[in-house]
Amino acid sequence: MTRKPRRPRRAPGSSGQRRRKPIPYAHQSIEAADIRAVTAVMRSDWLTTGPKVAAFEEAVAAFVGAPFGVAVSNGTAALHAAVHAAGIGPGDEVIVPAMTFAASANCVLYEGGTPVFADVLPGSLLLDPAQVEAKLTPRTKAVMAVDYAGQPCDYDALRALADRRGVVLIADAAHSLGGEYRGRKVGTLADLTTFSFHPVKHVTTGEGGMVVTNDPTRAERMRQFRNHGISTDARARAERGTWFYEMVDLGYNYRLTDIQCALGLSQMSRLAKSLKRRRAIARRYDEAFAAIPGIEPLAVSPDVVHAYHLYVVRLDPARMGMDRDAAFRLLRERGIGVNVHYIPVHLHPYYRTRMGTGPGMCPVAEAAYERILSLPMFPAMTDADVERVVDEVERMARAQGP
Ligand SMILES: *Cc1c(COP(=O)(O)O)cnc(C)c1O
Repeated sequence: MTRKPRRPRRAPGSSGQRRRKPIPYAHQSIEAADIRAVTAVMRSDWLTTGPKVAAFEEAVAAFVGAPFGVAVSNGTAALHAAVHAAGIGPGDEVIVPAMTFAASANCVLYEGGTPVFADVLPGSLLLDPAQVEAKLTPRTKAVMAVDYAGQPCDYDALRALADRRGVVLIADAAHSLGGEYRGRKVGTLADLTTFSFHPVKHVTTGEGGMVVTNDPTRAERMRQFRNHGISTDARARAERGTWFYEMVDLGYNYRLTDIQCALGLSQMSRLAKSLKRRRAIARRYDEAFAAIPGIEPLAVSPDVVHAYHLYVVRLDPARMGMDRDAAFRLLRERGIGVNVHYIPVHLHPYYRTRMGTGPGMCPVAEAAYERILSLPMFPAMTDADVERVVDEVERMARAQGP
């Protein structure tokens, strides 16, 4: 066995300024209890399709107040399952906001449907109900709401539109687990709501996802969909002492393991606490940036409880004396792990060449994209980390401002 050579320690004072460990924009929180929960499953009989899957589904569904939860292998699989359960197929259109991760639109293509991009509101960058209305056609089969950054969309407006036109309302709530709109929880605001358990999200299972719904037929359809379209799973067959199964739909292997669900269950027990911490960090940022011209946090509606997956600010280049890319480079150099969420989906080369989308289609999202930066936001940040972010943003604004 060879040992990795240790990186030599830099002699004190050898490089002018001491480099502190960079603060990432997001990071998982793993505690000893999580590791114990995972190792216990590894000693058990069920590594997958076992009791932890149902327990995790019940925990998430109970937290959000939805009757059914269907765990799948990642948030993108959750979107795919939701689009399938909504009955989307070739010729069907699904309205998707331009300001989101590509998966929110890709899942429509998986089922042969057509994503139709709608623009967002300039203050919050959330799907604009008026733009949804403008994009509705007789072929529209669903609207995909994305709770960008963790702020729930205007679900009363979207619900009214969806009901009037008889279309399904799907929520991509990868950012908003624990959010609320007018006293109702994310998970109860749409017909189908999807979550992601990627390490940057509120709760992690390494990779993982879930769809919650109040519709037992759609829940059953998604349970089959994650298991090749087979009508019973291995555990149900083991319980009934039978080998017989039938494939009744075309599905995939989108199962989430018991190992992952044990991690997720353990993480769920800390979700309320970690949401509180995210909101406290956001309050400190809000207060600090209110005093800095050229740094503008996104607008938050008084109707919502924000889940703060991301803390996004818009930079005003005229007042900052530098553009977003320069600010990005400067903050990264200073150890602040800023990021950009997102390149509008319709500007990706795949969509441009395949669907003929491009600049000018969603001007609000396109203009916002040029100016946005996501600042570090995760519950394990210390108060000192938060102050370091505030200080570096202030220093940048002071040095470059007019
Ligand atoms: C993270 C994310 C997804 C995809 O989730 P994965 O678990 O990474 O597949 C989908 N939509 C949005 C908005 C996301 O942020």
